[in-house]
Amino acid sequence: MTAPAATRLLDNYVGGAWTPAQAASEALDVTNPATGEVLARVPLSGAADLDAAVQAARAALPEWRAVSVINRARYLFAMREAFTARADDMARSVTTEMGKTLVDARAEVARMIEMVECACAIPTTMQGRVLEDVSRNVDAETVRQPVGVCAAIVPFNFPAMVPYWFLPFAIGCGNTFILKPSEQVPLTQQIAFEIIDGLGLPDGVVNLVNGGREVVEGILDHPGIDAVSFVGSAPVAKLVYERAAKSGKRVQALGGAKNHMVVMPDAVLDKTVDGIIGSAFGAAGQRCMAGSVVVTVGEAHDRLMPVLTEATESLVVGDGIEDSTEVGPVVSCEARDRVKGWIDRGVQDGATLVVDGREPDADADGAFVGPTILDDVTPDMAIAQEEVFGPVLTVVHADSLDDAIAIINRSRFGNGTSIFTENGAAVRRFRHEVEAGMIGVNIGVAAPVAFFPFSGWKDSFLGDLHAHGPDAVEFFTRKKTVTSRWFSSGQGHGAYFVER
Ligand code: NAD
Repeated sequence: MTAPAATRLLDNYVGGAWTPAQAASEALDVTNPATGEVLARVPLSGAADLDAAVQAARAALPEWRAVSVINRARYLFAMREAFTARADDMARSVTTEMGKTLVDARAEVARMIEMVECACAIPTTMQGRVLEDVSRNVDAETVRQPVGVCAAIVPFNFPAMVPYWFLPFAIGCGNTFILKPSEQVPLTQQIAFEIIDGLGLPDGVVNLVNGGREVVEGILDHPGIDAVSFVGSAPVAKLVYERAAKSGKRVQALGGAKNHMVVMPDAVLDKTVDGIIGSAFGAAGQRCMAGSVVVTVGEAHDRLMPVLTEATESLVVGDGIEDSTEVGPVVSCEARDRVKGWIDRGVQDGATLVVDGREPDADADGAFVGPTILDDVTPDMAIAQEEVFGPVLTVVHADSLDDAIAIINRSRFGNGTSIFTENGAAVRRFRHEVEAGMIGVNIGVAAPVAFFPFSGWKDSFLGDLHAHGPDAVEFFTRKKTVTSRWFSSGQGHGAYFVER
């Protein structure tokens, strides 16, 4: 479907005003992946557009930092109320531009709001530490101060939530902020920033710059940016981490994943199948926490496969906006063709195609791939090692829990992994030995809630401090330690180094 002549060209939000990109090299269509309809056009902003946002964010820093912490928290309370009032608009926007079902999109927006709620605790979580008498009449205190101008670069698969892993914590800590949304799904953040525009934040505290690679590279190199948060694929995470660190910035880079779900022989079958289906096929497999490899242990394989196959075949594929849909499209026709290519590759490499989603019963203009299961996969096959990012589940067999753990630990990724069993001793071994940052026990998508850190390992994460939870306050503040004594009180006359 082609764009109507009057398709809206999106603006940036800089210094408290909606601003057309001045230096865009080109504009891209934003399409509804379920229908092919063009929804808007997004500018690929240039260096001058980013620089305007950096200048606005830097200019806002002194005033914003001086706003009392409780008043900064009050802006976050207001953001929470305003987001909640428009939650359904944002969920519909997520479904329309990204494809996931409305149920999934509503859950995403709920988690987005949970991030803001968690950041409202900033007057408590940002507190430092004081210790009296570190030497005779000498006190030491550590205070937390904002880092400066912080920027976030985010992926397509959570258009609402992922930016809020960072934004509310960053501004709550007294930083100013620049967001670069994914150019594939920029529309939900247009709504979020319309809402933010109504909160009365000082100009320049939050800024939005639409674009792609040129804006990202600008963020990594710009001397006016102090910290960078990135979420996206593993190769770009590596590039971002190395280049931002080279220019002296604080950086956290969350990358791709290949998540395993171990099924033990004693697993509760119906609940396990629900967990696997939700994890592998929810959001059409486009979650960094999607379980894309089932590892069956011993006789679990023969118990699981008939039930899993039947449940997968019954899933309804279609436009995520329809109530009946259980699996929406992938994000674009390019993504659809790439995912189908991965299924072909798995078959060529010797896997057994148990459920084939390559030609689903859905709108031909849409980017649909049906849920797919490949059995008899061996851990060395590419389909078992690389991130497919589509509704494709591979099944690997292991003789024992030890084998299953060894398979997982050979992966270069370490984002999430789950085990399905009622055996506490097996769970204990699994959580102790497995090399991944987020573990599910009888839970298919073990994505931590806002008040815990989101913590991938290995190639799934580069940096030290993870997203949200207590790590967010660490990332968005710098510590300063003050050692002091006072003479006029008649105390503090000793020699500091000697008297300890
Ligand atoms: P992506 O890496 O293609 O894009 C992410 C961001 O980087 C976008 O804003 C994009 O504009 C920018 N970008 C893309 N290519 C670039 C380049 N060559 N140079 C500079 N910038 C570039 O990722 P995506 O396809 O949007 O998102 C899917 C990926 O994100 C998956 O790999 C998924 O696992 C990962 N992801 C990870 C997490 C996590 O927490 N670890 C969460 C969500 C998504």
